[in-house]
Amino acid sequence: MFYQTIILGAGAAGMMCAAYAGAGTLVLDHAKNPGEKIRISGGGRCNFTNLDVTPENYLSANPHFCKSALARYTQWDFIELISKHGIAWHEKTLGQLFCDGSAKQIVAMLVAELKSAGAELWLNSAVAKVDTHDTGFSLEVMQEGTLRKLTCANLVLATGGKSIPKMGATGLSYDIAQQFDLPLLPTRAGLVPFTFDQERFKPLAGTALPSRLSNARASFDEALLFTHRGLSGPAVLQLSSYWREGEDISVNLDPENQLFNTLRKQRQTEGRRQLNTELAHLLPSRLVEFLGQTLPLTQRLADQSDDALQTLCANLRDWRLKPSGTEGYRTAEVTLGGIDTNALSSKTMEAKTKPGLYAIGEAVDVTGWLGGYNFQWAWASGHAAGVAISAK
Ligand code: FAD
Repeated sequence: MFYQTIILGAGAAGMMCAAYAGAGTLVLDHAKNPGEKIRISGGGRCNFTNLDVTPENYLSANPHFCKSALARYTQWDFIELISKHGIAWHEKTLGQLFCDGSAKQIVAMLVAELKSAGAELWLNSAVAKVDTHDTGFSLEVMQEGTLRKLTCANLVLATGGKSIPKMGATGLSYDIAQQFDLPLLPTRAGLVPFTFDQERFKPLAGTALPSRLSNARASFDEALLFTHRGLSGPAVLQLSSYWREGEDISVNLDPENQLFNTLRKQRQTEGRRQLNTELAHLLPSRLVEFLGQTLPLTQRLADQSDDALQTLCANLRDWRLKPSGTEGYRTAEVTLGGIDTNALSSKTMEAKTKPGLYAIGEAVDVTGWLGGYNFQWAWASGHAAGVAISAK
């Protein structure tokens, strides 16, 4: 059976691509439902884009690569699409847009869009083999016990990254890219919690507070959450994408830089109190107790010189921690690295050395921050490839 275009992966990028590639397109997925990551994203409400999308919100060995696709399919285009489908949405925080109802509405919208464009969707279909065929590609696909032989002129790699293998993530796009000599960049887990040896933060599990997390490459002002295994929360997930094994991170527990002035003022009126008592009004008390294991917090406030208070606050603004690792692909929201963008056209997502082969979405070495940026990349790169294919 011949199709003009076969798209591997009925996720965010693959379905978007099919909606633009149109008739003669087949989308294949080994899962029994399309868009499973969309369904579970954003706590079931899908943070589908962000009001403020810029290329600076993306990590890639080539930071310029994402610009063209993001400029040609913006957050406003996606907002228009969901509005056309009557999907209500709201801004939660930091420009992050979520469905009022359910992420399932986005999945249903994408399926409706690809079908109305004339594309087909096959689920429960595992790719057994891919090869070149005349000027295009041949595929062997196992669909519910039946081996189907397919050919196509265009093949789109849209099977995402390695995160959450339990949900069916595989490295298929990387394998096929390699088969056709497209270079790969090393992959690693991104937007993922940090782990620490000996469950160091177990006594603090569940404690959350505003923070600034930084290293030499990046800095994020967002919530920090202590867990049984280590650190999580938006600030941690963001910084994890910029972290390398063995490195320190700096945790600022006083991002508004208020502690010194507040403690100094309190020293005048509450001098007889212990530092930990005063700090517990400003930081979570369990955290203060924990910090008291290494900092002299049982001393009286009145006994602290300005210098001593400055030193204490400097410690709280630059708490150096060395994660032992991350929770890895098991819980990571994204995969960094992947198909090298140097091998692709930034306008069409087509492989420069293999006409008809495209790569889109998370499989490509473009990774967004937390906050709707990864879906925006999936929509934009899917749109870029779909439009290019339909114009052929
Ligand atoms: P995917 O959406 O992962 O789709 C890939 C598809 O390929 C899947 O349907 C899969 O079944 C299929 N597939 C895989 N291997 C094979 C194979 N061998 N054969 C056939 N089919 C295959 N991003 C945001 O912007 N906002 C959020 O709120 C958000 N929340 C997230 C929450 C979680 C828990 C996770 C894990 C991720 C979240 N992300 C979020 C990231 C976002 O889901 C991904 O970046 C995005 O889905 C990538 O789109 P994609 O189409 O490239 O890949």
